[in-house]
Parts: sequence; structure tokens; C-alpha cells
Amino acid sequence: MAQKPDLRDLTAEQLARLLADLGEKPFRARQVSQWLHGHGVDDIADMTSLSKALRAKLSAVGRLTAMGPAKVLQSADGTRKLLFLLEDGQAIESVLMPEDGHHTLCVSTQVGCRQGCRFCATASLGLRRNLRPAEILGQVLAARRLCDEFRPLTNLVFMGMGEPLDNLDNVIVALGHILGEHGLQMSQRRVTVSTVGLVDRLPLLAAASPCALAISLNAPNEHIRRQIMPVTKRFGLEALRRAIVDYPLKPTRRVTLEYVLLGGVNDRPEHARELARWAKGLPVKVNLIAFNPHQAGPFQAPEAAAVEEFQNVLIEGHVTALLRRSRGQDIAAACGQLVAGQSADGAPGQPLTGPQASA
Ligand code: SF4
Repeated sequence: MAQKPDLRDLTAEQLARLLADLGEKPFRARQVSQWLHGHGVDDIADMTSLSKALRAKLSAVGRLTAMGPAKVLQSADGTRKLLFLLEDGQAIESVLMPEDGHHTLCVSTQVGCRQGCRFCATASLGLRRNLRPAEILGQVLAARRLCDEFRPLTNLVFMGMGEPLDNLDNVIVALGHILGEHGLQMSQRRVTVSTVGLVDRLPLLAAASPCALAISLNAPNEHIRRQIMPVTKRFGLEALRRAIVDYPLKPTRRVTLEYVLLGGVNDRPEHARELARWAKGLPVKVNLIAFNPHQAGPFQAPEAAAVEEFQNVLIEGHVTALLRRSRGQDIAAACGQLVAGQSADGAPGQPLTGPQASA
């Protein structure tokens, strides 16, 4: 017998249709949506403003996945890494980072990833499967429960395990619930989707969701980028540049370029000058992240002086460049490190490779 659909996998329109098929008036769909996404209940029985009869009808046609972290690791800097075990036994991670007056959550969109970036622990897993909208949203709801009113969860970055644009349909459904009026109502400026640059899918994302965009760039030229990011063979830097120009940004908004500095690979002043030339005229800002090496990784951390000089060269080249702190190093907070470091029996092992941030 086919499994009942998870109600959080449905779009707002699908949910409205389901309620209509049950003979309910349109306002019931909004009410149920608020319970599902706004309140984030994990049991249909907890939708207490609905009649018992309607809750029974909903339970007969749909279900809810309860997503609680199986493990929470806390770093000395307050960063928390959440490990989720999914219904089919797969594992994913999210990283919850405290900031001034709020929290930011780094969200996963796939179990593993097929993009193969050479500096990333998740790449070693390969792509196991896409996450459902309910599993993407479930990370947000679980993290929200770990925050308090003094530091609520207000910011999301889709930079965890997986390439969001490789699971775009499900990401778009989840974003609808995250940004939606009858969902979590998060600010579109505070929700960022990051991609390695699947440029053919960027127009679809732009059309479906007004969230912020980040591109994991990590190289100032085609030659270096091909060595560390295989996606460059499909979509070169010129295609990426054109995609940024064509991306329908609001006037005051900019695309974030994520740049992980790998010692001796992409961290020289000439690389910064090349990057500044490439970025000239684009509505972008650069986030610099110093690579945090691990025992099995082929890359080195950059020298502190090289990081500073790289930033200065960009600024002199009229490119906004911010240095992002590496978070949660003592708990392997870079994406995929914890799952990749698990032994076959699920016990935590040593982290493999990984940057501070993923795509
Ligand atoms: S950095 Fe992102 S896109 Fe690249 S392999 Fe890792 S998870 Fe995938």
C-alpha cells in the first residue's frame, strides 16, 4: 500500500486542493498551513483549533514526519551541529550559529552531493538522495526549537550538504513554506540559497523565489576552478558571469561570492587582482573564508598575512570583501564532516576533508 503523503511535502496549492477534496472551506488550508509551518507541529492531533473530525480526516489522508536531531554537538564558540537520522536511516547535518541578537542555520538539501568539490567533506559521500521539502523544512523547525526569544532563528543559508539547485523542485516548495504568509514568514533578505553555479537553473530559482543568492566561486580563473570544482567543466566562469548579470536582483541587493582561501592554491595577491577584474561591474560582494585543514585533506590553511593581503587587494580593487570567521572547528562544523566521518555502524569517527562552508 502506498504511503500517505507527508503534509509538509505539499505546496500551498496542493494542500488547498486536499482540503477542498475533504469538503473543507478555503480558509481551512491557511489554518492547516499555519499549524504545519508556522507552529511546526509534528502531530496532526496537535492542530487544536481544528475539529476532532477534521483532524481524523486529515490523518486518514496524510502524515507528518517528526524531525528531531539525534545528536547535538556544541562548539566552544556556541555553534551547534545537529545530526538528523532520516526515516530510511540516512543522516544529514545542519549547523546552528549564534550571532548578535539572532541565530543563523546552515541547511542541507541533499544526502551527500554529486558536485565533487575537492575541498568538501560531503563530496566524499556522493549523492545518496534528494531531501524532501518536509526534510528541508524539518531542519528549520527543529533548530527553531533550540533557539530562544533573545536569539531567535531569523537567518537561513542553504549551504549545508548538497547542491540546492540540484534538488530545485523540493527546495522551491520548502522556500514557499519558509517565506510564505501562512508559513514561517521569514524575511526573503535573510534567506540565502547558495550554488556552485548551475547557471541553467538560476532563472527557475529567480522566478520561483525572491530569496538572496550566493555563488560558491573559490577561484579567480577557469584553470584553478576546474581543478577544485568539476562543475566548471559544464559551466565556465564566463557563463557564470553572464548569469549574475542576468539575475533579476532588486536595486539594492547583491549576489554574494563565497571564496574559500586554500593555502598556495587560490590565495595569492595576483589571484585577488584577477578576481577583482572578474567582479568589476557585477552587483556582488565577496565573503572570504580561510580553509580549515583536516588530517585527510589535500589542502592547507592560508597564512593569516595572505588572507589579510587578499582582502586588501580586493578592497583596493573596489570590491566589497568581508572576512567570515570559521565556526565550530572543534565540532567539525563544516558541511558533511560529521556524516562523512561516521563509521558504518553510525558511530562518530574522524572528520575527512571539508571547508568552513559548503556550496
Ligand atoms: S561544496 Fe557544496 S556543492 Fe560542492 S561538493 Fe560540497 S556540498 Fe556539494
